Amino acid sequence: MTGISQENGRQQDGADHDGAQRVVTRFAPSPTGYLHIGGARTALFNWLYARGHGGTFLLRIEDTDRERSTPEATAAILKGLEWLGLDWDGEPTSQFARKDRHAEVARAMLAAGSAYKCFSTQDEIAAFRAAAEAEKRSTLFQSPWRDADPATHPDAPFVIRLKAPREGVTVIADRVQGDVTFRNDQLDDMVLLRSDGTPTYMHAVVVDDHDMGVTHVIRGDDHLTNAARQVQIFRAMGWAEPVFAHIPLIHGPDGKKLSKRHGAVGLEEYQLMGYPAAGMRNYLARLGWSHGDDEVFTDAQARAWFDLDGIGRSPARLDFKKLESICGQQIAMAEDAALVAELEAFLAATGEPALTDRQRDLMLRGMYCLKERAKTFPDLIEKAHFLLADRPLVPDEKAAKSLDEVSRGILSELTPQLRNASWTREELEARVAAVAEAHGTGLGKIAGPLRAALAGRSATPSVFDMMLVIGRDETVARLSDATR
Ligand code: GLU
Repeated sequence: MTGISQENGRQQDGADHDGAQRVVTRFAPSPTGYLHIGGARTALFNWLYARGHGGTFLLRIEDTDRERSTPEATAAILKGLEWLGLDWDGEPTSQFARKDRHAEVARAMLAAGSAYKCFSTQDEIAAFRAAAEAEKRSTLFQSPWRDADPATHPDAPFVIRLKAPREGVTVIADRVQGDVTFRNDQLDDMVLLRSDGTPTYMHAVVVDDHDMGVTHVIRGDDHLTNAARQVQIFRAMGWAEPVFAHIPLIHGPDGKKLSKRHGAVGLEEYQLMGYPAAGMRNYLARLGWSHGDDEVFTDAQARAWFDLDGIGRSPARLDFKKLESICGQQIAMAEDAALVAELEAFLAATGEPALTDRQRDLMLRGMYCLKERAKTFPDLIEKAHFLLADRPLVPDEKAAKSLDEVSRGILSELTPQLRNASWTREELEARVAAVAEAHGTGLGKIAGPLRAALAGRSATPSVFDMMLVIGRDETVARLSDATR
């Protein structure tokens, strides 16, 4: 083996396979609101990448903005990740709690000469910009303190600024965007530590990523420019740079940046609409990443297949039809008991009454015939009406119409037949067929009234499935109710 290949001095993705480094990813949300669907996808990509590489997936709450960060938002983010099934390793890190460490690194950079004290006031900076604008020069602030002799430093408040390179270029060898080149004369000497000693967000991210051992930074491409500035800190400190993968943001179906007017943008809204978590994971994985033509896959497949090469360069569009189709297939694939448990969680989340023990048993028994063609939990509940409703059933309008005089006559002949039948599909089919035949009609004619009697609905699982699930006594009682 010739060792790990290097490109621009960076460690290559996959280095872990060579035993050099274990993958560590992180999701670093700012707790200033709900968990956006784009954030959920970023978390998912990081989780898949870590889990697929036997690595670690960390959670960091970027709560340095004290005015906008709230504990409620943090709780909502954790809840959203839990619902989506994305487990993180260890305790979440609070960025704010690490502020002393951020200051320590800024001071170390100061001591090393890769940062400097800047005493310029806000007014001076504004005046610099106004003058630059008038002279049509770059308005990027150039501090007069950058190369000042410390002997000239006043006894006044100062910020610590990065002494960024002014010439040449910074290249981010991004795993999604390719090599992205930034001119250094367009990147300013950003502030690392404010005059009150608090770190800036840009600085805190780098210190945390280093200290947490993050090897792969997978995040939205709105952070690409930040990467060009953040690598300066890695380089100044002599720290290994992570692999960057900046993923295109999610767009609405019309190709425009996703916003409220496209519909739901918060993950919780999808939960409350009743999409199953496995379906959401599958759909979000496909939103901007692909593995050949595979649309529907298991979590194990997603973990095994997920790679940075499969992430597309153009923004993915939200597609509700595809979401529904994937969710439908995930429900059909799911284990019955797991579906019932998730359905119960859905009822609790939406404030609906919980299932009774009897309803839960019936749900478990009947799930096999409910889960085909249901795309959401509300779909499942609608199909399960026949086993959730109590006698006497009140048929809806369409069902009531099929219970005419003639049909009720046929049903009342069928009722005693069923009372004596052995409760197998074959026998039930034979008994119903015999009664239909005696009336010179087919099963099609008798199915409508049977559905109405058994479920009070016209769209239901097959009549034989319903009878098998609710059992003989309940079947006979419902037929008697309908023919009385
Ligand atoms: N806190 C940033 C955000 O919520 C993410 C920063 C990062 O991933 O580096 O957009």
